Amino acid sequence: MIDPHKRDRLRQNWLRVQQEVAEAANEQGRAADEVTIVAVSKYVDAETTLALIEVGCNDLGESRPQSLWQKYESLQPRSADIRWHLIGHLQRNKVRHTVRCRPVIHSIDSERLLAAVADEAAAQGLTLSVFLEVNISGDSAKTGFQPEQLPPLLERLPAVGVQILGLMAMAGRDTSPVQAGQQFEQLRLLRDRLAAGSAQPLSELSMGMSSDFREAIAAGATMVRIGSRLFEGVTD
Ligand SMILES: *Cc1c(COP(=O)(O)O)cnc(C)c1O
Repeated sequence: MIDPHKRDRLRQNWLRVQQEVAEAANEQGRAADEVTIVAVSKYVDAETTLALIEVGCNDLGESRPQSLWQKYESLQPRSADIRWHLIGHLQRNKVRHTVRCRPVIHSIDSERLLAAVADEAAAQGLTLSVFLEVNISGDSAKTGFQPEQLPPLLERLPAVGVQILGLMAMAGRDTSPVQAGQQFEQLRLLRDRLAAGSAQPLSELSMGMSSDFREAIAAGATMVRIGSRLFEGVTD
């Protein structure tokens, strides 16, 4: 059990984040439930992650595959009610174990990885929901497809095993929230162009973190990935 004060703080943080996300959506004339909050539990142990589930988070994100596997296992049977999200880089040798946890994968960053996930999911009788990660910031340290790689990719998607929800991106390092907003706007425009030119609706946009989720929602995010803001006063 985590300390009751920390649990209260976690509950308050979760309520506050939900409220802030709802306000940002409403400002755009969108309903609060059009934006899903993925609570990024990568900073905390399984016990604190359980507390997060108990205060009402159903979408949990991990950035390291091994941490996803460990939490998925250690939080059984609660894990079954959770929609897990893998938000960080996935190496192909970790695909099999990862697919078993049935996460939404936000970080498909190469055609080979997409094929590997699709093959493994099909072999396990599953269809996983995935995002194509795009390098919009031009930051060479960031993974992701270059925008020009996407039109041909969308023409030759795997027939089974994966469903493409849409595009995911991160703002570049050291960008201000305003600059991040411009990058998110670019991602939305890219999505609009790709959706118009292919059979894929790409209806979801995974973008925005603790420091820039308002800008992301203004630009059309349907999933925001929020970590540190949830743990203020909890992990320190
Ligand atoms: C850690 C992480 C987040 C959450 O970041 P915060 O700034 O702590 O909200 C979101 N997306 C990805 C890909 C991450 O690795």
